[in-house]
Amino acid sequence: MNPRFQFDLIATQKRARAGIFHTPHGDILTPIFAPVGTQATVKSVTPAQLQDLGATLVLANTYHLYLRPGAELVANLGGLHDFMQWSNPILTDSGGFQVFSLSESNKIDEDGVTFKSHIDGSMHRLTPEISIGIQEQLGADIVMAFDECAPPQDRAYNERAMARTHAWAERCVLAHKRPDQALFGIVQGGVFPDLRQQSAAFIASLGFPGNAIGGLSVGESKAEMHAMLEVVDVVLPEEKPRYLMGVGSPEDLINGVLRGVDIFDCVLPTRLARHHAAITRTGRMNLVNSTYQADAKPIVESCTCYTCQHFSRAYLRHLIIAKEMLAATLLTLHNIHTLLQLMRDLRQAIVDGALDTFTAQFFADQEQSP
Ligand SMILES: [Zn+2]
Repeated sequence: MNPRFQFDLIATQKRARAGIFHTPHGDILTPIFAPVGTQATVKSVTPAQLQDLGATLVLANTYHLYLRPGAELVANLGGLHDFMQWSNPILTDSGGFQVFSLSESNKIDEDGVTFKSHIDGSMHRLTPEISIGIQEQLGADIVMAFDECAPPQDRAYNERAMARTHAWAERCVLAHKRPDQALFGIVQGGVFPDLRQQSAAFIASLGFPGNAIGGLSVGESKAEMHAMLEVVDVVLPEEKPRYLMGVGSPEDLINGVLRGVDIFDCVLPTRLARHHAAITRTGRMNLVNSTYQADAKPIVESCTCYTCQHFSRAYLRHLIIAKEMLAATLLTLHNIHTLLQLMRDLRQAIVDGALDTFTAQFFADQEQSP
């Protein structure tokens, strides 16, 4: 294994794991939540603010950056770390998920996907080799294999997509050249335990330094997601990090950690902030609500984030009503802090052997929320 991407397991409790994933841009303490910077920016906050929140890993989207401003331009300006001024680890996805979800029309064949840009309608093509080439130009620490995410309930579709995902994963391994990047494979298989089992075994056999679980949190039930995580958990190698893609609500993070997941990413904290919603451990609050009009309390009284240390719910509601940009920034700071702190607390609970108490308290608090 490439020593630059060693994963050290520090402690485990049942299936939950506390670890350290080493990368050329620093250590990632797991379990970790990665904020998403779709366009090479985590919306409405500066890198300095993200740093103050204690964020380590940040995600950027290959599809978006390939279409605009272009991977070659980013490479010429020193790669993503320099371009977006983030000196900690970065992960780029393969572009596949956006091609299938955002592009107006896409045509898939065994070699790759031809698609129309959602920006200007121009035609483009992604193959495993092209995706890896773009990700090498972008220069993230962790890059993802090009995969096909199928509708979770369609068995025939999932069988075809899984076979393609496996063939493409092998081509990504051959195409990937940069030794300062870790290429992760992606397990697919919809909501079908036998497909998930088969996919996890195949992806594990390719010897990636980390493995991702894709095609979940895309419309299946929570029970189905948990069942798939449990199937995959026992197949994937324990000595490598596991990354559950696109998951980020507090309860989903905890349920993922309880089923052996180490890394998560999601647009949820930044997207909710732009829709005036605060994430708390007991549920969501929409600050536009008139009940907060003269409320002097912070969003969460025990929260140590900058927003809660300084500002009232009434002030946040005023900013939202007045359509001030600061509303999104302050809510984003709180939301990202909430998820990062939850992961820090989870990690400490695993290290202390106190995970049962921690999760029991968390789910009891959730049930008592309004
Ligand atoms: Zn806060």
